[in-house]
Amino acid sequence: MRPPLLSPRTVALASLVAACLTAAPAFAQYDQPFQAGETPELTEKRKKMVKWLGESVKGITERTLGAFDAVPRHKFMKARDLKIAYDNKWAGIGYGQTITNPWMVAYMTHLLGIEEGMKVLEIGTGSGYQSAIISRLTTQTHTVEVVRALGERARGLHDNLAYTANIKHKLGDGYEGWEEHGPYDRIMVTCAADHIPVPLIQQLKPGGLMLIPVGPHFQKGNIYLVTKQQDGSIKRKVVATGTFVPLRRTDKFSDDD
Ligand code: SAH
Repeated sequence: MRPPLLSPRTVALASLVAACLTAAPAFAQYDQPFQAGETPELTEKRKKMVKWLGESVKGITERTLGAFDAVPRHKFMKARDLKIAYDNKWAGIGYGQTITNPWMVAYMTHLLGIEEGMKVLEIGTGSGYQSAIISRLTTQTHTVEVVRALGERARGLHDNLAYTANIKHKLGDGYEGWEEHGPYDRIMVTCAADHIPVPLIQQLKPGGLMLIPVGPHFQKGNIYLVTKQQDGSIKRKVVATGTFVPLRRTDKFSDDD
């Protein structure tokens, strides 16, 4: 009888090496921005955040809270911010941009009352967290980002989280909205404009709602809830104040800042 080609020891060693090789990418990713893995501690912190949001956002539904439970916010943040991923804090995501604090994301999502099947447009993809939340509430999520690197990173993240099918991404100036897919039931603008862009009003359905921060750059501005009437006119009211990064027009945009 011929001796076996590989001794049991060699086979065991080979399996160990193979196991390490498969584990390596996951390990290597852990420290990379936006790639941190889930741990029981993070799950626990997320549950606490969801409980707190339930108590502090008046009237928020279980359905909306479910979205916050389902989306791992830490994956949308830089590795250095892992510790604060479930605190009520905004954080830098590169390119001078930020991920909004969870309370504001929850409050704005709640105010829009997004129902299954509604067509939603978000302006300012940023980290991709807000659009991931929206995508748990409706199958028709559209998001526009002006910073190419951020838009591409968010798309990659959504791919990894298997949200691709129901999030459509566009790179460009969100001031112009995304006419091709409009009109929309809901529009959420996550950067501050100095006025309400006319194209966004045009792309809102009659009866539709839009949330938009309006104010001077990097200063507290008003968040308007805009309702489009059946005759096409709009009504608006201030629902909160907040500081958001500015809505920048494409001509002022540079990849480096
Ligand atoms: N919704 C984001 C918040 C990002 S901050 C999140 O969940 O993380 C606002 C984003 O708006 C930034 O990424 C910024 O680059 C983007 N932005 C600024 N001006 C824009 C414009 N004209 N069109 C589209 N996005 C814009």
